[in-house]
Amino acid sequence: MYSLPNLPYEYDALSRAISRDIMELHHTKHHQAYVDKLNAALDLAPGVAERDLESILTHLDAVPESVQTAIRNNGGGHLNHSLFWQWMSPDGGGEPTGVLAEKLDDHYGSFQQFVDSFNEKATGLFGSGWVWLMPDLEIITTPNQDNPIMDGQAKPLLGLDVWEHAYYLDYKNVRADYIKAWWDVVNWQRIADDYHQ
Ligand code: MN
Repeated sequence: MYSLPNLPYEYDALSRAISRDIMELHHTKHHQAYVDKLNAALDLAPGVAERDLESILTHLDAVPESVQTAIRNNGGGHLNHSLFWQWMSPDGGGEPTGVLAEKLDDHYGSFQQFVDSFNEKATGLFGSGWVWLMPDLEIITTPNQDNPIMDGQAKPLLGLDVWEHAYYLDYKNVRADYIKAWWDVVNWQRIADDYHQ
């Protein structure tokens, strides 16, 4: 059975971009709910639970139809949030260095143009979902709690949660302000490490 992972920092560690209240609510209520509902769905499909989560989400067709949507939404929610916490850091922000920085420049012209493209996709995403930087440096979006691996795509390098629950307390309905502030806590070290693999 799955359990809520600890954050790699304190709830107030990202407060220059995301308040303590949002971090605590997002982690202890929203992420916890995905974990609980994932476990409840897996209880109804014992054979599925023996596989690891990424394998389950990569092959959702193999999951019994009665729990497929629940596992898609809550398994995706658990995986996405587990990654999201690691993609942020109190030491984050700034710009990447090394190979990733060079490749982003090659692909987008400059780091700022990459950020502008990402922001445009993030503000333009209708409803609730995620924006992803993929290993080929393309930027894509998914609805709900879908992760690109569900469509047979690679694991993303970076993702941004643009559900209202991720920012409403701090930024009300102004998603663009949340996105702009979020860059200040992006954990480029972690992302660059994954890019080298
Ligand atoms: Mn969320």
